Amino acid sequence: MIPIIRPVMDQAEADAAARVILSGWITQGPEVAAFEKEFAAYMGAEHAVAVSNCTTGLHLALLAAGVVAGDEVITVSHSYIATANVVRYCGAEPVFVDIDPATFNMDPTLIEAAITAKTRAILLVHQMGMPADLAAIVTIARKHGLKVIEDAACAAGSEIKWQDEWEKVGRVRGDAAVFSFHPRKIMSTGDGGMITTPHDDWAAEFRLLRQHGMSVPDTVRHKANTVIFETHPVMGYNYRMTDIQAAVGREQLKRLPGITARRREIAQEYKTQLAPAQWIGLPEEPTWARSNWQSFSVKIPSTSDQREVMQKMLDAGVSTRRGIMCAHREEVYSNMPLNAPLTHSEFAQDNRIILPLYPQMNNDDIVFVSDMLKKATRK
Ligand SMILES: *Cc1c(COP(=O)(O)O)cnc(C)c1O
Repeated sequence: MIPIIRPVMDQAEADAAARVILSGWITQGPEVAAFEKEFAAYMGAEHAVAVSNCTTGLHLALLAAGVVAGDEVITVSHSYIATANVVRYCGAEPVFVDIDPATFNMDPTLIEAAITAKTRAILLVHQMGMPADLAAIVTIARKHGLKVIEDAACAAGSEIKWQDEWEKVGRVRGDAAVFSFHPRKIMSTGDGGMITTPHDDWAAEFRLLRQHGMSVPDTVRHKANTVIFETHPVMGYNYRMTDIQAAVGREQLKRLPGITARRREIAQEYKTQLAPAQWIGLPEEPTWARSNWQSFSVKIPSTSDQREVMQKMLDAGVSTRRGIMCAHREEVYSNMPLNAPLTHSEFAQDNRIILPLYPQMNNDDIVFVSDMLKKATRK
């Protein structure tokens, strides 16, 4: 059976977890602090703040952006549903714009028509690891006084050209980017997330809110030789990462360059294998983007039935996923008025299939998956 993804972990991660478990300090502490420092350095970010997962990180980022009840946040429906849900966590409403069918990301030319007096922020997604057009979106946001939050759940290791220089997604040019360490993503801590931001005050707010709004981190209280009474100036949350997770994350971060390089090789090999099958549509990077290929999605012919193709591949031992979901088609968002059609979002969900892609795949696996896809889609 060829799964959709497989985490890249071995004894190094097991030893890191064991080291923390035996140390006497297991939740947010020195390992989280070290992971944050190393992650910020790798991404080229001023600050990195670890949280329990990407969803909670996005919630904190929207709070820091000042999103409150009654506000609107411009985002895409074509994403994992957490992207829309975090807007509702703030009591605000998501306003969905369609995607650019070439990148599966927010189409910047549709943003201005969606801006109203209630718009507070733009929540873009680097979907499937493919960078969104950050330069265009930040330009529009600044013109209208809006904050820019990047859902970078899938984008660890992806790169984007900013004024002719390649930068990591996470070297924030808007206001904050949030990564996921769920096993379906590029590097994993089981569950986990990281926020990067250039703003000192935002980083301080994230640190406060992730730990119940408590004025003193418990590492400080633990080390103090005078008695400290903590206070709670604001209502916070428990969005902490544990030191066990952070220790695993530090090992995963060391692997990230290798994981990304191998994923790019596999994506290239898929393209080589599938190019002769002209009825299959292949994903392409814009000149200013380098994907980490968190998901490699292909377009199947309109004559093929998506579920049938996926079932045929499953029967052959190949696990696939349908195109990225659309939140507005789910019951929880079904009574929401749409102010523009989401044609490309819906088309991508219905006519694309995500293929297995993980560093441990060998060339025989890639050839096998490609052959099965050709067989399952050929008329
Ligand atoms: C996975 C994912 C999330 C949620 O990440 P968690 O760490 O599981 O909370 C959010 N947005 C996108 C685009 C994702 O792919």
